[in-house]
Amino acid sequence: MTDLSGKIKLVQGDITQINVDTIVNAANTSLLGGGGVDGAIHHAGGPAILQECQQIRARQGGCKTGDAVITTAGQLPAQFVIHTVGPVWQGGIHDEDRLLASCYNQSLKLADQHQLTRIAFPNISTGIYGFPKARAARIAVQAIHQNLPQCQFLQQVIFVCYDHENYALYQDILNR
Ligand code: ADP
Repeated sequence: MTDLSGKIKLVQGDITQINVDTIVNAANTSLLGGGGVDGAIHHAGGPAILQECQQIRARQGGCKTGDAVITTAGQLPAQFVIHTVGPVWQGGIHDEDRLLASCYNQSLKLADQHQLTRIAFPNISTGIYGFPKARAARIAVQAIHQNLPQCQFLQQVIFVCYDHENYALYQDILNR
C-alpha cells in the first residue's frame, strides 16, 4: 500500500473550528440541515450554507446517499463545505459499507475537482445513523488510501474525531 503517513492527520475536536480548504458535512438527503455535525456546521457557518443547499435542491432535488455536493462555508474558517450523505446502518446487508466508502470517495473527487489541497472529514454515519464505529473507521481509512494517490491537487486529509472512542479507533488503525 502507498505510504500516506505524512498526508493523513488525526485530530480530536470540533470540525467547525478547523481551518482547511474544505470540511465535510455528514448531511442528510434533504440537505436542509439536521442534528449532530450537520447542525453544528449550519449553526456556526450561518445562513449562506443553507441558501446554497436550497439552490442545489432546486436544481437536483437534494443529494443521494453516497453522493456529495459542495457549498460555501459561510462564516467558518474553512472555505467550502462538502455535504455528503452517509448510509443509515440497517444491519450491514443494505450496501452500507459501499455507500459509506462512496461518501469518502465522492468527497475527495469533488475537492480535487475544485483544486483544493486540504480536506477534513468527520466520522460519517457513526452518530445518529448508527454505523458501527470500528467498521466505519476501517472503511474510511481504506477509502482514503485507495483514492488519495489518484488526486492531483489534494495533499492532506484530516480525520476530525469528536468523541474519544472514534479518536482511539483511528489512532489504532493509522498507527499500525
Ligand atoms: P450521522 O447522521 O452521519 O451519523 P452525526 O452528525 O450524528 O451524523 O454523527 C457523525 C459523527 O460526527 C459522530 O461521530 C459525531 O460524534 C460527530 N460529530 C458531532 N458533532 C461534531 C462536530 N462539531 N465536529 C466533528 N464531529 C462531530
